Amino acid sequence: MTTPSSPLAQAPSLQTPTADLVGVGPTRAKQLADVGVCTLGDLLEYFPFRYQIERSECPIQELVGDQVQYARGEVIAVNYSPFPRKRFEATLEDPTGTLSLAWFNGAHMRGRIHPGEIVRVQGKVNFFRALPQMVQPSWEIIAPDTPLVGDDLVRSVYPATAKIKSMAIWKIMDANLAKGLALVPEWFEQSLLSRRMLLPRRDAYRAIHRPASEREAQLARRRLVYDELMLMQLALLLGKRLQTGDILAPEMKADRLLDERIRKRFPFELTQAQTHAVWEILRDMKLRAPMNRLLQGDVGSGKTVVALYAMLVAVANGFQSLILAPTEILAEQHKLTIGQMLHGSNVRVELVTHDAKKAGGADLKRDLANGKVHIAIGTQALLGEDVNFQRVGLVVVDEQHKLGVRQRGVLREKGLSPHYLIMTATPIPRTLALSYFADFAITTIRDLPPGRQPIKTHWFRQNESAMAYTLLKREVALGRQAFVVVPKVEEGGDVDLKSVQSHMEDLHAGVLSGLRVQMLHGQMKPEQKQQVMDQMRTGQIDVLVATTVVEVGVDVPNATVMLIENAEMFGLAQLHQLRGRVGRGRHASFCLLVGDPMNDSSRERLEAMVKLTSGFDIADVDLQLRGPGEFFGLRQHGLPQFKLADIAGELEMLQLTRQDATQLLERDPQLLSAGHRVLRDQLQRQFGDSLYLVPIR
Ligand code: ADP
Ligand code: MG
Repeated sequence: MTTPSSPLAQAPSLQTPTADLVGVGPTRAKQLADVGVCTLGDLLEYFPFRYQIERSECPIQELVGDQVQYARGEVIAVNYSPFPRKRFEATLEDPTGTLSLAWFNGAHMRGRIHPGEIVRVQGKVNFFRALPQMVQPSWEIIAPDTPLVGDDLVRSVYPATAKIKSMAIWKIMDANLAKGLALVPEWFEQSLLSRRMLLPRRDAYRAIHRPASEREAQLARRRLVYDELMLMQLALLLGKRLQTGDILAPEMKADRLLDERIRKRFPFELTQAQTHAVWEILRDMKLRAPMNRLLQGDVGSGKTVVALYAMLVAVANGFQSLILAPTEILAEQHKLTIGQMLHGSNVRVELVTHDAKKAGGADLKRDLANGKVHIAIGTQALLGEDVNFQRVGLVVVDEQHKLGVRQRGVLREKGLSPHYLIMTATPIPRTLALSYFADFAITTIRDLPPGRQPIKTHWFRQNESAMAYTLLKREVALGRQAFVVVPKVEEGGDVDLKSVQSHMEDLHAGVLSGLRVQMLHGQMKPEQKQQVMDQMRTGQIDVLVATTVVEVGVDVPNATVMLIENAEMFGLAQLHQLRGRVGRGRHASFCLLVGDPMNDSSRERLEAMVKLTSGFDIADVDLQLRGPGEFFGLRQHGLPQFKLADIAGELEMLQLTRQDATQLLERDPQLLSAGHRVLRDQLQRQFGDSLYLVPIR
């Protein structure tokens, strides 16, 4: 209860601590704090996660079978019989008839209901010899003058804990809702609300807690989801201005002649999708606003060539280009392909790894700093403090979700403001493109280069793995090569090594005896890895057993089998990436998944792999299975976790709010109008410094 001294004189606000609310003592306050509710405002935002429909009371005569219904009546008889099943019975009577109630294992009911009491019950009705009966009903003794529940009641059910039940929260909400609602301000102008058919904010808060009907609860949710997403869109748009506002990237030129020169370098014609991608990228690079573009395309869709085109444009304009790769193997792979295509040209390409820095160190660093190296390829080593560049015009980031977003800051600290091109083989689902990735422009390569062979995916249970290996051996007998991937057991340590090694030995001695088997894992020295990869590429190895180091960047057209052991332990995106390592040559290829699912979601992952071939479909399923928080490790992204909105299912609302937020900022870029004051304050509170908002006096 409120303490008498709690200053009523001090008007309540949304910041009023819960301890000062009606019905909340120190114990309840503590329990509420445990679920994150510390103020009146928090309480209002503690939303029900579902509703329970409590039907109106029904005269006994009118009860129908097989439905949950409410009734009330006077108890006219009770009876307990310990045998056979500790059955407790009671009979209720109302002016229209009698209803019998039964509880099995009902010893606990003894002495709790007495003849003469008025009881309200809820339960499923069945008929026994034409008489209505409820088994294990919910019940409460009520005062005789308790008014009949006339209309159906939609009761909010709140997320509860062991200490505080939904009903207790309901009561606290009930006692304080009106006071809280009076303090809820409107965020948007009436014209917008009418256009989008949104409830006023205050009504929405009332209705989400105390809906008159399910329909009203839906409308309330819709309004509040709109608010959450609008706030995010406004923050994204305002933040983007901050990011790009005064930073300028180099303005590049490109013409027909350059285009012809670049295309001549490639051993194939660019596909239409690639040409289109190049065109979108160049359009950005010709502007001084820094490009911030995602290049998404399935594994093997030919992103590297598109990126190389852009890098060559930068070089032709007198700028250096960088490729940031997540692993050394991938960096080496890029160096190899790009080196081949640029063979005989004046463009100098260098690999910058930790070892390379040590080895050719001083010379390499000097040439990076004086601009003699045109394209530098590397891992984090590229961003080391001891590495400097002359003029970087373009940074290509491969698989950004594995590289982190921090790197951008590092480059900026080096005084660089390049264009950015981020390549990803995990397509961004549309909902995320409109939310977490909203500050990127997106280019999509939808078609694979011509002549690609489809990849057949099969799933084998653990005890069927011999069948998978039979398939693998058949391919090897035809002169093809295979990958066998085993999961990393643990980060670091030599568990990784042991698991690959022991597995390889088993295979070598068993099913794969007589074949040329080699292994590749994270603990090997770079030059050892390089050697093995070279052997694989040149066909001196039949089967490469590896941990996921092959996940990205290995290009072996003659490999036609990707066999994944313990496939249930891999994420969906990862499985799809691995699958993309085959099917790159002229021959039909196979992805063989071996594993017994541990739970529903690992089963769904394996089924999705068998059923779906497009990375886009895979990404959608992945998002649904994992939720946006896990997807891409977005938790670090700094955007809010939503209370109501479920990003994966909110495409329409995302599009709507994107549009509305853009229009709103066009009319009132700094949210200075009186009608937007509250909104501005809210944004400031929630996103603070990450926004481009000038202070108002
Ligand atoms: P991604 O990086 O998108 O996974 P890559 O750029 O590595 O794909 O390309 C995959 C393979 O397809 C490479 O061997 C590449 O040489 C080849 N390739 C790319 N574009 C074409 C094209 N237009 N025609 C034929 N082959 C192509
Ligand atoms: Mg690639």
